Amino acid sequence: MANHWDIIIIGAGLAGSALAENISQSGLRTLLLESAEPGSGGASACSRGIVRVYDPSPTLMQYNVGGVREWRRLNQRWPGIFRQCGIIYLLREEHIQGAQGLLRAFSSSEYPIALISRHQAQRVMPGLNIPSQAGILHEPQGGYVNPRLACQLLAHQAREQGTELLEGVQVKRVESQSNGVSVHTEHQVLTARLAVVAAGAHSRTLIPEIPLFSRSIPLSTLYSTGAQAPQTCLIDEYSGSYMRPGSTSFVFAGGAPQHDATAPAALPQTRGVHPANLQLAQQMLPDVPLQLSHGWDGYDGYTADFLPQTRLIAERHLALFCGFSGRGAKYIPDAARQFSQQICEYLQ
Ligand SMILES: Cc1cc2nc3c(=O)[nH]c(=O)nc-3n(C[C@H](O)[C@H](O)[C@H](O)COP(=O)(O)OP(=O)(O)OC[C@H]3O[C@@H](n4cnc5c(N)ncnc54)[C@H](O)[C@@H]3O)c2cc1C
Repeated sequence: MANHWDIIIIGAGLAGSALAENISQSGLRTLLLESAEPGSGGASACSRGIVRVYDPSPTLMQYNVGGVREWRRLNQRWPGIFRQCGIIYLLREEHIQGAQGLLRAFSSSEYPIALISRHQAQRVMPGLNIPSQAGILHEPQGGYVNPRLACQLLAHQAREQGTELLEGVQVKRVESQSNGVSVHTEHQVLTARLAVVAAGAHSRTLIPEIPLFSRSIPLSTLYSTGAQAPQTCLIDEYSGSYMRPGSTSFVFAGGAPQHDATAPAALPQTRGVHPANLQLAQQMLPDVPLQLSHGWDGYDGYTADFLPQTRLIAERHLALFCGFSGRGAKYIPDAARQFSQQICEYLQ
């Protein structure tokens, strides 16, 4: 049937694009639907893509190990997509012991993670304001990726491998049928054996029972008026803020208050909170003069435990690949590789 696919993927953020790229290698007839363009809508459009392994959750840490491996592989294919600038993570005192245990389990010669002294940290990030009781984790091979470029490259690669990509099409409704699923757009009904909902925070609009909510992630671009902007990623548990290098003169900063809602449209505007990001960044680096340059109203689809919704609901001919909870850039490509195997086994 002309308008019948093996699989329809809804959303071409990092999740949908990476999944399409993996599934397209199997020869299954695949359609990728995106209301904007790959990487230009939702979380992936604003994401700064910090990639690190340490996380207080061992489950997420396990995902991140696979994520780093996959980004390294993608960096060989597309040099520069993953910049390994190093990461400093300031731990609250009560988390130091737990982190030591996790480091024993997860630090490796392939990807070392170490607790370092204040003196060593100052060498990595001169002028860093380190709270007196803080533990300092260093991931010298951590860094950041470009999620927008990754979406475009992955979607392009998927097309080269046979996936059909339809941009500018918003899915209005998904309905399970006895022998497949129908995907309704404004003007058309498309059918498939399986539909994957990878619409980020919007996924719940299509499948209301997904245990997902939207959370704002206000992110700011700051300009360094002095010497060059910081060139290392920084995550500070004390203030809940973080920084990611942008270029010689610019740095990205986050951590300002977040808001929750049932859907992205119900989130309040966050522009007023960008001065808070500047203030937090300035507390971390008091000697680096910074100015607010720009603010981004980012958001993502969250789950209560920050773990993604990655599951096949065979009886409804549906799969979910969403709920990456503000952490997905680091491991989505690896999760997509694994989930695509499950999907292909089911469909073949
Ligand atoms: C400001 C910000 C900073 C972040 N920083 C980091 C970080 O440093 N490190 C990290 O690991 N993670 C980070 N994240 C989180 C990470 O980027 C996300 O978890 C990840 O990008 C989610 O990808 P996704 O494909 O699931 O969702 P999205 O990127 O939201 O993609 C969903 C896509 O579906 C499309 N869509 C939605 N509804 C429909 C519909 N009805 N029909 C058709 N298409 C539809 C949207 O247009 C969008 O393109 C950050 C996120 C934000 C917002």
